[in-house]
Amino acid sequence: MVIGSGAGGGTVAQELAPLVRDGVRVLVLEKGPRFADDDFTGRELEMADALYQDGGAFLTRDGTMTLAFASAYGGSTVVYTGTSLTAPARVIHAWDVPGIDHADLQARSAKYTEQNNVHLLDETLINDNNRLFVVGGRNAGYYVEQFPVNVKGCRGSSLCNLGCPNQAKQGTNRVQLPRAASHPTGRWTSASRSDPPGRKALRQSGRRATTGCKRTSSWSPVGP
Ligand SMILES: Cc1cc2nc3c(=O)[nH]c(=O)nc-3n(C[C@H](O)[C@H](O)[C@H](O)COP(=O)(O)OP(=O)(O)OC[C@H]3O[C@@H](n4cnc5c(N)ncnc54)[C@H](O)[C@@H]3O)c2cc1C
Repeated sequence: MVIGSGAGGGTVAQELAPLVRDGVRVLVLEKGPRFADDDFTGRELEMADALYQDGGAFLTRDGTMTLAFASAYGGSTVVYTGTSLTAPARVIHAWDVPGIDHADLQARSAKYTEQNNVHLLDETLINDNNRLFVVGGRNAGYYVEQFPVNVKGCRGSSLCNLGCPNQAKQGTNRVQLPRAASHPTGRWTSASRSDPPGRKALRQSGRRATTGCKRTSSWSPVGP
């Protein structure tokens, strides 16, 4: 059973899916809703409430910090910026976790880099803000380089953190989860739950999310 369908859970779901052929049963449970493409309105207040846990202001127990993370089919990959980096060797060495080897990690990362269409943006797509940032950084003596991002058909709407309205960002909701579900014996189902208060905005605005937002989703193999 995989709990959560974000970067971690969605990827694990994809990797486990082929085992279904051998009779293994795999279940992904996601407490957040599954959004339809046209649910992503780009309107900050309604999307923050709809996508993020506690509207993006989840407070730590001691009240000293707020954390932003999504609760949806695809988890925070629906709202992340798409910057896709592989942890460098110095970080992995500093972690010193038994079983995590940098060369191995890099090889695995290369697979998802390709799957999720991670690449550097064409120069023509770099906006003036970023051009100035590069010039300023270099003039100040810093080494400046572009972050690779996982987008396909980006239209520069700058709405990554509200869920891409152009279906450009390649999170687990667009790549790994559909692959898992496309397995011949897999399928996604939805289960109703009560509508969290934060999701009412979309319902009241009459968007299609009305029904989608009332559902959690799960993936499981069909079989014995
Ligand atoms: C605004 C924002 C921008 C970001 N930008 C970047 C970026 O550019 N590059 C980058 O590398 N990282 C970025 N991140 C971080 C990245 O998104 C996370 O590190 C990553 O998604 C974490 O993966 P995860 O699987 O641990 O959790 P998540 O992707 O958050 O997924 C967890 C899922 O589990 C579900 N869940 C939790 N509890 C339960 C339960 N009990 N039952 C069922 N389901 C449950 C949640 O609803 C959620 O959908 C960003 C994050 C945010 C919020």
